[in-house]
Amino acid sequence: MRSLIIVGSGPAGYTAAVYAARAELQPLLLTGMQMGGQLTTTDRVENFPGFPEGVLGPELMNRMKAQAERFGTEIRMEAVTGVDFGYHPFTVTTASDSIQAKSVIVATGASARKLGIAGEEAYAGKGVSYCATCDAFFFREKRVAVVGGGDSALEEALILAKVASSVHLIHRRDQFRGSPVLQDRVRANERVHLVMESVAEEVLGDGEGVTGVRVKNVATGETTDLEIDGFFAAIGHTPNTEVFRGQIDLDGQGYVLANERMHTSVRGVFAAGDVQDPVFRQAVTAAGSGCMAALEVDKFLAELEDRVYPGNKNSGK
Ligand code: NDP
Repeated sequence: MRSLIIVGSGPAGYTAAVYAARAELQPLLLTGMQMGGQLTTTDRVENFPGFPEGVLGPELMNRMKAQAERFGTEIRMEAVTGVDFGYHPFTVTTASDSIQAKSVIVATGASARKLGIAGEEAYAGKGVSYCATCDAFFFREKRVAVVGGGDSALEEALILAKVASSVHLIHRRDQFRGSPVLQDRVRANERVHLVMESVAEEVLGDGEGVTGVRVKNVATGETTDLEIDGFFAAIGHTPNTEVFRGQIDLDGQGYVLANERMHTSVRGVFAAGDVQDPVFRQAVTAAGSGCMAALEVDKFLAELEDRVYPGNKNSGK
């Protein structure tokens, strides 16, 4: 029987672990398949307080992991395959184990969204990618396209422009959503070609790999085939909540519904980080909500103790 299981190993999960471990709750943290979460596929993080020169995403996550372990968090590289929050203590199931816990923090984050166009799935891993930091290396002096207009797409275009010969940045509107500073950098980069008011309709290939992308201008209706070797989609994220569906309340997009104290619809189950945040989605806000969830867990467990052993309250212990 565990006091607390934390599901997820991004900034929310590790921060919750630091707080819970320091409160002597001996948390068990299940990392999921992508240990360290989305920041392990990020380049340099320049907006996490305490790192004036910036820090590489994977390094930041390794530091958080080390901090969680230092205070006694048990970390297992396992993914959760099922949960039962209908009975207390709760049950959390992995491929190799079924574990009971008095409380759970859901911090499973979010994953890159797919476009759902022809050729996207067929050429996944053969030129179609969702992570420039991971895959830019494969496109040295090659032609690539990036789809999207948010910070992710702008950042990916800049990462790719360092190695690729040309980067077509395809965005469906005439204005970017991403921050002005990244927009300025993209516009100033001569390797980046803006393809505005346009949507990617199909990823073209020769069976072996990507050879092009069919792009439609939504203003004129004109269709053009661009010759490319790599195709990157950066159009936002979907929360990783499938395993919790039917167990805790989710919103229409699948994000966990948590209140301002990170409580979910089930008492004793808390949520933190991107899995419950469609708005801010920052490492620092995820870390903050992980802290809040852990503090609330501590309070919940103390109340649970009081209920189970009511005599303790006035016994001076
Ligand atoms: P966003 O939701 O901000 O942007 C998604 C982009 O993809 C939008 O431009 C959207 O278009 C476009 N899009 C969505 N669906 C489709 C579709 N089906 N076809 C074509 N285009 C589509 O997601 P991001 O991942 O860019 O950013 C998420 C959050 O993370 C933001 O808060 C961002 O600020 C933050 N972030 C910060 C970074 C940094 O500070 N360095 C780096 C990366 C992310 P439209 O604009 O028309 O809606």
